[in-house]
Amino acid sequence: MYKVQWVIWQALLAMLMLTLPADLREQLPAAPSAAPAATSASGAVNGPATAPVKHSSWKTQQEAHEESSKIVYLTFDDGPSKLTSQVLDILEEKKIGATFFVLGQMAKQSPEVIRRIADEGHAIGNHTFNHKYNELYHHFSAFWQQIKQTEEIVREITGSRPQLVRAPGGTFGHFDKNYFKLLKDAGYAVFDWDVDSGDSKRKGVPAAEILSNIQKSPLKDRMVVLLHDGAGHEETVRALPQIISYYQSKGYRFETLTPKTKPVQFKVGGSLPKQRISPSEAWVSTHIVPNAALFANAPALAVAVGSVETRLAAGEYRISEGGAYVVPVRAMMERLGAYVSWNPLRQEAEISWEDHEPLILRPEQFEVQGDAIWMPLRTLLELSGHTIREVSFGDKLRRVQAV
Ligand SMILES: [Zn+2]
Repeated sequence: MYKVQWVIWQALLAMLMLTLPADLREQLPAAPSAAPAATSASGAVNGPATAPVKHSSWKTQQEAHEESSKIVYLTFDDGPSKLTSQVLDILEEKKIGATFFVLGQMAKQSPEVIRRIADEGHAIGNHTFNHKYNELYHHFSAFWQQIKQTEEIVREITGSRPQLVRAPGGTFGHFDKNYFKLLKDAGYAVFDWDVDSGDSKRKGVPAAEILSNIQKSPLKDRMVVLLHDGAGHEETVRALPQIISYYQSKGYRFETLTPKTKPVQFKVGGSLPKQRISPSEAWVSTHIVPNAALFANAPALAVAVGSVETRLAAGEYRISEGGAYVVPVRAMMERLGAYVSWNPLRQEAEISWEDHEPLILRPEQFEVQGDAIWMPLRTLLELSGHTIREVSFGDKLRRVQAV
């Protein structure tokens, strides 16, 4: 019934359009065009039910200001929260893009908001899992663990790994040279800010004060602006339309941060936590070095078993010296629908898949790297009762078909 009504409504609208004077017709919003295909490079598999699509609406605004070389990057930290959708509504209305540095623990609670941020074409950055300074800045491996944990949460929701990182509280007094170096070597882009809106100076900073902080800050051609969309930042939401108007009146356009944007980073300094332990060379070689490949432009590996297909992004699999594909067992098998458990006492992995007997993998069959166990794809498939029938490779995708 609704469909019939809809058709009638459309017909009426079409008639109305024909009778409208031309100049008025142009003021009506155009029909939404088909969204361009997802540009996610992750090749996520268990990824989103709907592929992330880029909202093209705010680009119109951008195009209108193309001649302007002055750019503001609005960034929102500590979300998502209940306020994030209000921020998104404002950005949508004003047709501008922004960057959200999200907390893993919040993202986990509101995946639908994360999905909306991505779908509407904004950038998502990583702001660690729990924001606790005493955990994050005592030992790099703790910071790292939270970055990876949050990255995995976002990847599961959007299909993309956030490559942008913002340190809770900023890097000053928190990062030493090594934090900067290791994150860079691992493929991440760390961003501090040029303009602090002061919205987190204390609880409930009023909108007028936030706006005045913004207006008092010196203007530069490119500026990263710090705002917050975490719980309790209602005043930031109130100030946002005026913040946007202010920068527009000064001839700025708005863009989202990308890993290619020139980073804004504070100098190392302040009172860094004492007795910080640097990670060992072995740790760096198993964690940092392989991580960079996740963001490299190398082909993904598609593995099909019967009609089930999954993908490992570049960096999620390796090629051995002998040319064999080597894969992380848990990621591979779980994406194919298996359940993998680890027996720490026996150092064995157990895979339950389809209606086969559970498959036990013993230590001599796999190699441990980082926190994962790895083995050749062919061996893994054969042990679980599948034979490789076809292998093909192109610039963008390598493909293995098993039956
Ligand atoms: Zn924060």
